[in-house]
Amino acid sequence: MRLTRYFMPVLKEDPKEAQIVSHRLMLRAGMIKQQAAGIYSWLPMGFKVLGNIQRIVHEEQARAGHIAMLMPTLQPADLWRESGRYDDYGEEMLRINDRHKRDLLYGPTNEEMITDIFRSHVNSYKDLPLTLYHIQWKFRDEIRPRFGVMRGREFLMKDGYNFDLTKEDALHAYNRHLVSYLRTYERMGLQAIPMRADGGPIGGDYTHEFLVLAETGESEVFYDSEITDLKFGTRAIDYDSVEECQAVLEEFTSRYARTDETHDEALFAQVPEERRRSARGIEVGQIFYFGTKYSEPMGATVVGPDGARVPVHMGSHGIGVSRLLGAIIEASHDDKGIIWPEGVTPFHVGIVNLKQGDASTDSACEALYAELKTQGFDPLYDDRDERAGAKFATMDLIGLPWRITVGPRGLAANKVELTSRRTGTSVEMSPQDAVARLK
Ligand code: ATP
Ligand code: MG
Ligand code: MG
Ligand code: MG
Repeated sequence: MRLTRYFMPVLKEDPKEAQIVSHRLMLRAGMIKQQAAGIYSWLPMGFKVLGNIQRIVHEEQARAGHIAMLMPTLQPADLWRESGRYDDYGEEMLRINDRHKRDLLYGPTNEEMITDIFRSHVNSYKDLPLTLYHIQWKFRDEIRPRFGVMRGREFLMKDGYNFDLTKEDALHAYNRHLVSYLRTYERMGLQAIPMRADGGPIGGDYTHEFLVLAETGESEVFYDSEITDLKFGTRAIDYDSVEECQAVLEEFTSRYARTDETHDEALFAQVPEERRRSARGIEVGQIFYFGTKYSEPMGATVVGPDGARVPVHMGSHGIGVSRLLGAIIEASHDDKGIIWPEGVTPFHVGIVNLKQGDASTDSACEALYAELKTQGFDPLYDDRDERAGAKFATMDLIGLPWRITVGPRGLAANKVELTSRRTGTSVEMSPQDAVARLK
């Protein structure tokens, strides 16, 4: 992409409405525009990152054997009357009437709808296990939408639902989700710690929230510092193996790590004092086993091996896809701007032309731009007629992992400069070597 042909409305001034750094940087880099409280347009660069995050989520769900689909944003109220949640959900639910005065709602989550799909089409235990998910916009009429896309009212969520014959099978699905989420967040350059969360009215041990530590996080968390040494990394995992998935769950959840809702001072006191930490975190996901809470009232049953009909055991598992943009920026920035992790960056590399209009510099940039595209990279070429300082400031703000600077002086010796956004270190080399180095 050439910057002169792109749409990236960078702001010069800090927007006053932004209270936290990720919101400020997303506005300044021209990634989003607020349309109403908690409702945003995704401008091209924000949209690109949102797409990259979705791609990683899809890839990791596919690896775990979970199946993608798409449910609508609008749902009939009657489904929610069946589960009893139409009245319980309260003011966070946006209720809508159509021209026939039928009650609809903009879905805040999809347990009811997926249960309805399941009961319409699945009859036998032989069709289990089954995990379906989608990535779809949700609406929650949050009392205090704030921090940009972190707490929106309309926001993008991945939500998945498992259907299993027994509680044991459903807990295996729970563990599969835990593993796939660890991988998902790590690929985005994030450490998201599974923490024991509040089971709400359902109770029990079977819910974990994934938290990214950040001062601006809305959750208060308490943990054993040893947990921050854990990394899933690139190890192999067989998602069908109950033992392997259980072992990962145990590894990642045996140390103390809780949100304030389940925090237990007495248990926390057993953690050696020098390892006790209290901090703030951003909830980027949650997994939940809830058994037959929806399958029973809504009649989602299967015929079991003995011929008797039984309600299926279910769980739901969510990732805050649009919130993740904010979380990633909170975790990865400096005072000049964003520092995108390679996995989600909107462009791989930026080309800065130090002397736009100079025939040989322009043609070197064009050749480099073409070569990068040929090699499968997605470069952003700053071809504006601007001072070097302004071009560098823009590149630093938008945070591409690599910058290649091209100027007449270097070119005289067949050299360009390759700069890492994260470390700030620059190395001179030939354009060919710079392309090779990016691979
Ligand atoms: P929170 O405690 O932040 O209100 P939640 O527990 O109500 O979130 P879940 O129902 O667990 O949210 O939804 C799954 C994920 O969706 C959350 O972990 C979070 O990352 C994301 N999410 C929830 N509410 C919002 C929101 N208003 N804006 C953006 N993302 C959200
Ligand atoms: Mg909430
Ligand atoms: Mg929560
Ligand atoms: Mg939650």
